Amino acid sequence: MSELAPPARELVLASGNQGKLRELGAMLDPHGWTVIPQSRWKISEADENGLSFIENALIKARHASSHTGLPALGDDSGLVVDALNGAPGIFSARYAGHDANDQANIDKLLTALGAMPEADRTAHFYCAMALVRHADDPAPLLATGRWDGQILETPAGTGGFGYDPVFWVPTEQCSAAELPPGVKNRLSHRGLALTALLEQMTAF
Ligand code: IMP
Repeated sequence: MSELAPPARELVLASGNQGKLRELGAMLDPHGWTVIPQSRWKISEADENGLSFIENALIKARHASSHTGLPALGDDSGLVVDALNGAPGIFSARYAGHDANDQANIDKLLTALGAMPEADRTAHFYCAMALVRHADDPAPLLATGRWDGQILETPAGTGGFGYDPVFWVPTEQCSAAELPPGVKNRLSHRGLALTALLEQMTAF
């Protein structure tokens, strides 16, 4: 009998963020997972009322799974700036207002930091992931990742999404928006969290 590749398994991504969908889809596809955006079901936004990334990741995953009946991956991530006591943190997507776009969020961040010296502009991206088998899963898989860098005074690069143009990556000597997608996926908070999650997914 010939060896067949195992069929792709499906999970719902509990996010409408196209940047996340692109990155997570590319990272999970080689492992036999097909990532379906929750927009396929026209699901309402989950009420992200947790105080931490991990709480919100779990809220999103349960919400998506309860509306689709499929396993769901919740990803909550954001930028944590030391000089701003961790802001924008869990509010990264809506830092400049509920419907703020990436540019407005970046503008607000650069204004908040002003001419602060380079040494004080330290920050990290943080990502929490939660994968549930079903909405009431009592034993979700959880993983986190962290990516250290600094906030630039002026945006650089056109790749990625969100705060990438102002996130300086010391190890690569460029902004996150100047990295090829494959390199970003290997180094980033999301890539690291997903690697940690995949190690647990063998038994999922
Ligand atoms: P969430 O969809 O509630 O997790 O919000 C994530 C927000 O954090 C995004 O909208 C971005 O503003 C920011 N963010 C998360 N990951 C990244 C990244 O890899 N690059 C740039 N910004 C990011």
